Amino acid sequence: MTATAAKLQKGGAFLMEDVAPDTIFSPEDFSDELKMIAQTTKDFCENEIVPNIEKLEKLEGTLNEDLLRKLGDIGLLGIEIPEEYGGTDLPKTAAMLVAEGMAVLGGFSTTYGAHQSIGSLPTVYFGNAAQKEKYLPKLNTAEIIAAYALTEPNAGSDALGGQCKAVLSDDGTYYTLDGTKMWITNAGFADLFTVFARVDGQKEKFSAFLVERGMAGVSTGAEEKKMGIKSSSTRMLILDKVKVPAENLLGDVGQGAKIAFNILNTGRFKLGAGGLGGAKNALAIATKYSQERKQFGQAISNFGMMQEKLGEMAARIFACESVIYRTAGLIDEAISDSKDGAFKLKCIEEYAVECSIIKVLGSEVLSYVVDEGVQIHGGYGFSAEYAIERAYRDARIMRLYEGTNEINRMLIPGMLLKRAMKGELPLMQAAQGVQKKVMDPSLEEQNDGGLLGEELRAVKNLKNLVLMLAGTAAMKFGAKVDTEQETMARIADIIIGLYASESAILRVRKLKERGVDTAIMEQMTKLYTHNAVEEAAVAGRQAVCRLTEDEQEIAVYMGALKRFTRHATVNTIGLRRSIAQSVLEATGYPVTM
Ligand SMILES: Cc1cc2nc3c(=O)[nH]c(=O)nc-3n(C[C@H](O)[C@H](O)[C@H](O)COP(=O)(O)OP(=O)(O)OC[C@H]3O[C@@H](n4cnc5c(N)ncnc54)[C@H](O)[C@@H]3O)c2cc1C
Repeated sequence: MTATAAKLQKGGAFLMEDVAPDTIFSPEDFSDELKMIAQTTKDFCENEIVPNIEKLEKLEGTLNEDLLRKLGDIGLLGIEIPEEYGGTDLPKTAAMLVAEGMAVLGGFSTTYGAHQSIGSLPTVYFGNAAQKEKYLPKLNTAEIIAAYALTEPNAGSDALGGQCKAVLSDDGTYYTLDGTKMWITNAGFADLFTVFARVDGQKEKFSAFLVERGMAGVSTGAEEKKMGIKSSSTRMLILDKVKVPAENLLGDVGQGAKIAFNILNTGRFKLGAGGLGGAKNALAIATKYSQERKQFGQAISNFGMMQEKLGEMAARIFACESVIYRTAGLIDEAISDSKDGAFKLKCIEEYAVECSIIKVLGSEVLSYVVDEGVQIHGGYGFSAEYAIERAYRDARIMRLYEGTNEINRMLIPGMLLKRAMKGELPLMQAAQGVQKKVMDPSLEEQNDGGLLGEELRAVKNLKNLVLMLAGTAAMKFGAKVDTEQETMARIADIIIGLYASESAILRVRKLKERGVDTAIMEQMTKLYTHNAVEEAAVAGRQAVCRLTEDEQEIAVYMGALKRFTRHATVNTIGLRRSIAQSVLEATGYPVTM
């Protein structure tokens, strides 16, 4: 890591603290090793996935499994597996880069993620020595393929509500598992399932088991007929009196929730990175099409409304990229080359708020980009003959799995408030501090006069806005704040917008200090921040009206809201046009490492 970290920012602290630009990590800090991993992934996708898309989409033969094995051969399955079991145990940034690169085909990247991430990591982080010895070397090469089986027909978001049951035999040698798991990625060919079940049917004994396909009573349903990611296998997993040896209990009885949620958390930042990769890919496809398609005697890329889309897509991608790798840097810096799995998990958990932000932002930037990509294609975007049609369908799942975006939106302020209550984050003190700014207009945030100073001032104001809203919500609703979902979701959106804007601003400042030509990045940051502030103004107004009905209070909060969302006038139409020129020159995302 080349960014000089003076002091590592704690998870969630971005809401209260300012950080120096040179402390944040960004793609420009990638080591040669990371660049090589990105290139290896790109080459693999170009040579092995792209030529095989049609076959993969039909789930023909054993192509998915064969490709996973090839990935094992080139070392891309073991990036989070300890070296003693054959892996390379690389920084989390590497895992994010591979997830980003793998996103050229949504289906295969899901297959990859289910094996490499949520399928293998339960054993990496919670397995005992014998379990690791038995399974990890084979997972590293895809000699066995993994799947993660948490969801049930009646337990999705409420994952702990599952009914799958495990009963220990009288002699204590095996558990009998019964139940059905739903939507299990890789189920068509996986050999090892991490299955979650309640021991004796008791919720507090929710536990995880390593279940092999070959165990009697294990079967799978038919392939689900899905809207997208057709190249990934998704089936039910049926467990009918499956005798699972007691030594295949993962962790302790009752540790299932800890395992399930920690693993999902480690999946979220990679999922966001996948969204980023998919968005870059879709932008390239749409840009190329806009240059080739002629209407009214000219390329449609000449038209203002087409350029507006390209400019906006690029700006969102830039902000998303800045957030993802800033957070990757924080996680890796915290891990600081430790090989201790429990410590690593703690470091990732520290940034759970940021991981949820990445999941929501990555999946929604992708959704936006593929949707506008279809629009740029006109009627051809609706044709299965065009790659953008598949990208559009494949993108939709990203907002649903590994915690729906609603669940993640609730987690963002929910986890922040929880940490504040535990005394881990001085959120309430900061919220009280902001009350002074709410009452006193003379305590305005100032432009520091630096590059993008107006944007940084706007971000500081958005932090004030969040603290005002979250503090008021906590006071008004107390322990019931969780039930104020709509208000919490609006606060989450402001938080996402400000963290992304700040990450982009700091990245640009850092690069400018290094002498990099940041002109295009400055434009994208200005545009993104402007949008974030405008959206925050709307969300903030709605939240204030929910938080109080007292007219005097409303007047005070509305006055503060107006100040906290004040922003210099920006020619956003001109900015999008200008950014689009760079997108057209690059035939895609205009920032290269
Ligand atoms: C293609 C595919 C692959 C998948 N792969 C896997 C896998 O490999 N392993 C696995 O275990 N699972 C997998 N899943 C399951 C996936 O994680 C769940 O579908 C997801 O968690 C949502 O659960 P659900 O579908 O039951 O929706 P529900 O939980 O029923 O949600 C329906 C709607 O209600 C909302 N909602 C639910 N609870 C709340 C709440 N408290 N507050 C506000 N809104 C709420 C949701 O956000 C959503 O909009 C996969 C799903 C699909 C479609």
